Amino acid sequence: MLPGESPVASDSGPRVRPRRLLKGWGRTVPTSAAVTGLIDLDDVRDAVLHEPRGVLGRGLGRSYGDGAQNSGGVVVDGTTAVGITSFDPSGLVTAKAGTSLEQLMEWMVPMGFFVPVTPGTRQVTVGGAIAADIHGKNHHQAGSWCNHVESFRLMVGSGEVLDVSLESDPDLFWATAGGMGLTGVIADATFRMKPIETSRLVVDTDRAADLDEVMALMVEGDADYDYSVAWIDIMTRGAAMGRSVLDRGRFARRDELPSKMAADPLGFASNSLATLPPIAPSGLINPLTVRAFNELWFRKAPAKRRDAIMSITQFFHPLDLVEEWNRVYGPKGFLQWQYVVPDEAGDVVRSTLEALSAEGVPSFLAVLKRMGPGNGGHLSFPSPGWTLAFDAPVGSSELGPLLDRLDEQIVDAGGRIYLAKDSRVRAEHIPTMYPRVDEWREIRRRVDPDGHFQSDLGRRLNLI
Ligand SMILES: Cc1cc2nc3c(=O)[nH]c(=O)nc-3n(C[C@H](O)[C@H](O)[C@H](O)COP(=O)(O)OP(=O)(O)OC[C@H]3O[C@@H](n4cnc5c(N)ncnc54)[C@H](O)[C@@H]3O)c2cc1C
Repeated sequence: MLPGESPVASDSGPRVRPRRLLKGWGRTVPTSAAVTGLIDLDDVRDAVLHEPRGVLGRGLGRSYGDGAQNSGGVVVDGTTAVGITSFDPSGLVTAKAGTSLEQLMEWMVPMGFFVPVTPGTRQVTVGGAIAADIHGKNHHQAGSWCNHVESFRLMVGSGEVLDVSLESDPDLFWATAGGMGLTGVIADATFRMKPIETSRLVVDTDRAADLDEVMALMVEGDADYDYSVAWIDIMTRGAAMGRSVLDRGRFARRDELPSKMAADPLGFASNSLATLPPIAPSGLINPLTVRAFNELWFRKAPAKRRDAIMSITQFFHPLDLVEEWNRVYGPKGFLQWQYVVPDEAGDVVRSTLEALSAEGVPSFLAVLKRMGPGNGGHLSFPSPGWTLAFDAPVGSSELGPLLDRLDEQIVDAGGRIYLAKDSRVRAEHIPTMYPRVDEWREIRRRVDPDGHFQSDLGRRLNLI
């Protein structure tokens, strides 16, 4: 046995859980944990009952920071438990927690169903979707993932697997929705898929000259679209600060498809096209290259286009075309800073963007979306208003203090930072950003009185 590996007593003798260095998508703070598979619920139970550093469920590791890490403890690899275990023709699906949204699409799109909510990547699991209560470009219309969940099975601190639904235990249901894996390990879940006639989207694009224009377009028009997202060129300052490309759309009806697509209205191809080389050239991301990329991206977008037909990948998941694109930021990795602020705090969108563009942080990904009402999740991120997500390479000594100052603005505006993206927010802000955190802690104590579910994020933010 290697140093640090955990022996597990079983009928066939002690079993060793291999240790792995685990990272978030931002690749910033790797930590090591013993790994077991969700497929083996007996071993998961054994770890829950006996591991001193606790246990944490993990999906495809697409949370950016340390949310899916449990340094020195056990991490349960959800991707060992994949598949749909029941399906009813109305679109109600039960899937194992490690099933990815891409797998759901591969199986269900040809049958006329799409996931109710998709993030900017489909490489996330059902367990990760519940634990982060993920949102998509349709939050203003459809809410977040857990709005579409009927029930899930959750292993709690006693090792028991509970059937949790809004009827059986609404408190535990909502504490787990967005609870970042800290109420237990999700084994599987039942949720409702969205019926679609085709796998194509009808998309309108508008290029906006500045921030005021894009925000006005979104306020006026988003209610007319199922999906909406604005990409912002964060490298532009002055009068054109906040210039954007706004894409809004909905799934196409069959009669809207051009004849060459009509033969296969529900076709879905999931292959990625390229993989980044294992070592991304250092210095690839700098203000000059990113400014040039952003300029090109802005210019290549049509000034105003209506009714373009796009595939699911083109509209929702263009980043999935390049595997492991997160290595583009180089060996130090990157972070994503995502906040939501209420509608009345639209000026905070302006002041934060001004501060980020003035700093010249090289970022090619800054997106603005509108959110509708939140749900009952105590730690669920979405709430009505504006959400901005912004990627930045780590390394500059100014970035941390700048984001700390901007966090204060978010707190003052009644907003919050998204835990699934976070790697750096100060713990003192959590009770203001998530005012129901004490209620959440009480529910957690009820199902896990000895604190068996642990994570690096939970410790860093004093959640547990
Ligand atoms: C390119 C990109 C775009 C993104 N866009 C969006 C977006 O638009 N909207 C959005 O909401 N998010 C977005 N995300 C974030 C992503 O959707 C969430 O972080 C999601 O939780 C990742 O799922 P995962 O399966 O990779 O989970 P992981 O990252 O592995 O884990 C995330 C959390 O879920 C918990 N968890 C996972 N599986 C289980 C389980 N079986 N039981 C209990 N807990 C579990 C983990 O403990 C952890 O706390 C994006 C991420 C990337 C990389």
